[in-house]
Amino acid sequence: MAPILRVEDLVKVYPVRGTGQELRAVAGVSFSLGRGETLGIVGESGCGKSTTGRLLVRLEEPTEGRIELDGEDITRIRGRALREVHRRVQLVFQDPFAALNPRLTVAQTLDEVLRVYDLAGDKAGRRRRVQELLGMVGLRSGFADRYPHQMSGGQCQRVGIARALAVEPQVVVLDEPVSALDVSVQSEVMNLLTRLREELGLSYVFISHDLGMVRHISDRIVVMYLGRVVELGPWRAVSDDPLHPYTRALQEAVPVADPGIEAAREIEPLRGEVPDPADPPAGCVFHPRCPLVEDVCTTVDPELAELLPEHQAACHVAARRLQHPSAVGT
Ligand code: ADP
Ligand code: MG
Repeated sequence: MAPILRVEDLVKVYPVRGTGQELRAVAGVSFSLGRGETLGIVGESGCGKSTTGRLLVRLEEPTEGRIELDGEDITRIRGRALREVHRRVQLVFQDPFAALNPRLTVAQTLDEVLRVYDLAGDKAGRRRRVQELLGMVGLRSGFADRYPHQMSGGQCQRVGIARALAVEPQVVVLDEPVSALDVSVQSEVMNLLTRLREELGLSYVFISHDLGMVRHISDRIVVMYLGRVVELGPWRAVSDDPLHPYTRALQEAVPVADPGIEAAREIEPLRGEVPDPADPPAGCVFHPRCPLVEDVCTTVDPELAELLPEHQAACHVAARRLQHPSAVGT
């Protein structure tokens, strides 16, 4: 069966204001999302995760590449067909408060979506559906009459999730959905998302800068760096036994519950910052920050290759270590 969502060589170029320069926020990204799967996307701020998310839900059109939803090319569709894609692929935002209209009650927010997409029948039907949606996201019926400022961040995010689910999507792209919430609320919302995925047969793309968060919910993990996929594989392999030094650095930034292990770790924090995507380094774009850098890394951009079964990485050193034929200089 075809994956529910598939992207191939996705590129998004933005003009840099006032310079005449261009910036590749997404610089050739390929992956697929299986039915019922959660695909995690992780990377530091500025690596192109949110741009990828906006392309997946077709809020923006890619500069190059291809997006398929359930086998159908949706890369450049417009009009009614695009509206239907917007229904089938929903986006949940990081800032739950900002994502809601402050002048609408929860019931009005949900009712508006149902009306726009002509769902749940007449007024009474829509009212029933609003109650059903509140129940699904664990909010009492009384929340229907609340305004965003009368709710906590976690409650607002539950409404954001209810609004996404109101249109019966197939895919939900969650862009840092719990990053703005108190730590105590994060796991509640994560558990809710996991339960909803199972109950409703949803497929998720879960975006976060935090590998520790992504590993708990994902079946597979995509690691992005400067608009590129540098590693992609099963969650346990990527989070516990990463191939790429960048993923290893992200992994080392994840706190460990056991203080003994935490103290014993040789934490080597990532040096420096993500480079300017308008002026990417030559060769491997990670090389200026890489602890394993070799000569070849400064000149040759490593290809993303399957170094272990179902586990890809774009790294000269890892490729040579695993004696992959794409390794340069062997
Ligand atoms: P992430 O979500 O991983 O933090 P983003 O996708 O938001 O990364 O941004 C990736 C890069 O693209 C950043 O350098 C950002 O400044 C740039 N960028 C994102 N959106 C735009 C835009 N609309 N116009 C110009 N540059 C953008
Ligand atoms: Mg982002």
